[in-house]
Amino acid sequence: MEPIKKILVAEDGKKFYVRNLKEDFHTQFGFVSKEALAKAKPGDMLKTNTGKELFVFPPSFIDSYGKIKRAPQIIPRKDIAAIVAETGVGKDSTVVDAGTGSGALALFLANIAKKVVTYEIREDFAKVAAENIAAMGMKNVVLKKKDIYNGIDEKDVDIVTLDLPEPWKAIEPAAAALKIGGFIVSYSPTTPQVSDFIAAIANNKSLLLIKTIEIIEREWEFNDRIVRPLSQKIGHSGFLTFVRKIR
Ligand code: SAH
Repeated sequence: MEPIKKILVAEDGKKFYVRNLKEDFHTQFGFVSKEALAKAKPGDMLKTNTGKELFVFPPSFIDSYGKIKRAPQIIPRKDIAAIVAETGVGKDSTVVDAGTGSGALALFLANIAKKVVTYEIREDFAKVAAENIAAMGMKNVVLKKKDIYNGIDEKDVDIVTLDLPEPWKAIEPAAAALKIGGFIVSYSPTTPQVSDFIAAIANNKSLLLIKTIEIIEREWEFNDRIVRPLSQKIGHSGFLTFVRKIR
């Protein structure tokens, strides 16, 4: 899929994503001509042939990210935020990530880090992730169709993120790949996974367990006198365990 070139927003907030500027763009409210689309600038108002007003909006990372294909379950943003905040991942960081899944975490981190290398064992998920990487036009993500339990090729890595059924099997490869001071972040939905992971960390003298956290996000509704937490909110996603290589 092509990267998103322009976004059209209706007054009610409904968004339309234009990936091909060489064709007229069709919506349920009629179409916008390719000529009008090509010269439209952010903030301009375009009218469809039926008279519906659409405002031109520049595509940002988060708009494109919201449109990626989801194969297996992706890590929610609240958890990605904690990974960023706790590790300080930044423009000089090299990250190794596994498993890729849909590539959600890998893509998010690639928008922040220097480089992300992501490992996926399943051909079908690797294909979805490759399409997502192309659709976002990200150049600093390398996708490897490999089993991370068998080893990590990269050296001097700043952060290893693990979203795997048996993360403890990736500890030795991660420890070998990391810089001194680097982080392992493991994301697991269930407590037995966390217990086994922590027990395996305790057996590795080069690694220090920092903490395990769960991020709970509560969205509120503000509607006149109805001011309360939304009853429909994200339930449990996963636990995040942070580990550091100390020697
Ligand atoms: N973090 C991803 C979701 C990962 S789901 C996202 O945000 O989109 C877990 C993935 O790990 C699955 O795609 C699974 O196929 C992959 N996986 C399982 N074992 C693996 C292994 N040993 N090496 C690499 N990938 C593995």
